[in-house]
Amino acid sequence: MNEKKCKPATLCVQAGWTPKKGEPRVLPIYQSTTFKYETSEQMARLFDLEESGYFYTRLQNPTNDAVAAKIAALEGGVAAMLTSSGQAASFYAVFNICSAGDHIVSASSIYGGTFNLFAVTLQKLGIEVTFIDQDADETEIAKAFRPNTKALFGETITNPGVSVLDIEKFARIAHAQGVPLIIDNTFATPINCRPFEWGADIVIHSTTKYMDGHATSVGGAIVDSGNFDWEAHADKFPGLTEPDPSYHGLTYCKSFGKNAYITKATVQLMRDLGSIQSPQNAFLLNLGLETLHLRVARHCENAQKVAEYLKSNDKVAWINYCGLPGDKYYELGQKYLPNGSCGVIAFGLKGGRDVSIRFMDHLKLAAIVTHVADARTSVLHPASHTHRQLTDEQLIAAGVAPDLIRLSVGIEDADDIIADIEQALAK
Ligand SMILES: *Cc1c(COP(=O)(O)O)cnc(C)c1O
Repeated sequence: MNEKKCKPATLCVQAGWTPKKGEPRVLPIYQSTTFKYETSEQMARLFDLEESGYFYTRLQNPTNDAVAAKIAALEGGVAAMLTSSGQAASFYAVFNICSAGDHIVSASSIYGGTFNLFAVTLQKLGIEVTFIDQDADETEIAKAFRPNTKALFGETITNPGVSVLDIEKFARIAHAQGVPLIIDNTFATPINCRPFEWGADIVIHSTTKYMDGHATSVGGAIVDSGNFDWEAHADKFPGLTEPDPSYHGLTYCKSFGKNAYITKATVQLMRDLGSIQSPQNAFLLNLGLETLHLRVARHCENAQKVAEYLKSNDKVAWINYCGLPGDKYYELGQKYLPNGSCGVIAFGLKGGRDVSIRFMDHLKLAAIVTHVADARTSVLHPASHTHRQLTDEQLIAAGVAPDLIRLSVGIEDADDIIADIEQALAK
């Protein structure tokens, strides 16, 4: 199969694992920590990165690699790796090119967990983060950059505010500053948006969401476009362009070319920090990926119907869904997400926070869960749940109104979802 020529639906089903004669048709789970060699010399060459091959699952595992290759093919990247969670993916994506004394710029309206990682934990490691309003103009955002800035970060569709990012604008800003653009593409998935086509350099995913799609496995992925020229900005990225003493002075860019970034994250960060995805979870993730194209389309179709229903209901105070004409992000949605955005809708009810919470308690089909973006319709009140740690000011900067209900529309029948909302609104 020529993956370069295949359409996303084919890649979802078949990319990453091509069995040879007599091998299993379905990607096997290599539930083994370790791999056998004939001679001590063979193994030594692996440790020196002189040859590629499996030796210990903390670094690489064939099941994980097949699934990572599928995600790389879907995103149109050159290389990818799986991580144990989306949080680990965000952390590694940044930490792979930053160390103490460095700085990154990030959109402020990002996932609450990423916000905490950036605002609290990275600070403890000596990496500073400046949060900016992603809707500000280019010159305004450019002011946040410093000589030690190493990356710009944003989400294609923000969780939970569902704002749409102007990826091309962010790419222009990042590249004018000589740094890569890292995009969290969790909500859009490569079915609806491929950020590399708009200039992003690195994409990360919480595969826990639509990719797994069934709420079974926490996981993450990092994908490299191979487009960012680290050597052209060698002074900013010594980790990639200067010798690594922990591998006898090997230089990632020289030895691995376009695979330098993912190779470094694998053989250095995974080796030392060890947030691998279990092969069992990678297997389940792969089952999810096989139907991603079908499910995402159905999520979007259902969410569009539910959004239209909510918009026309006079108990609803406001609604954010970029598929609705007149939505603040309708135009950006048409540009970056022409086939639909995702199943997530943000809205508030007249009467504010308390009414929103009471409405949620009356839902029957839709469950109150922390999770988002799986087959089952679910709701969450971010201000009381995922974003509880944030101050009111941080909440507003993160695009989370205190009365915001995050409705994750599943792939059930849209009529049943709307009927459930209707009966809860009536109460
Ligand atoms: C859930 C989520 C994350 C974090 O992923 P985990 O798999 O829960 O660690 C990161 N970004 C976005 C947009 C998310 O929705």
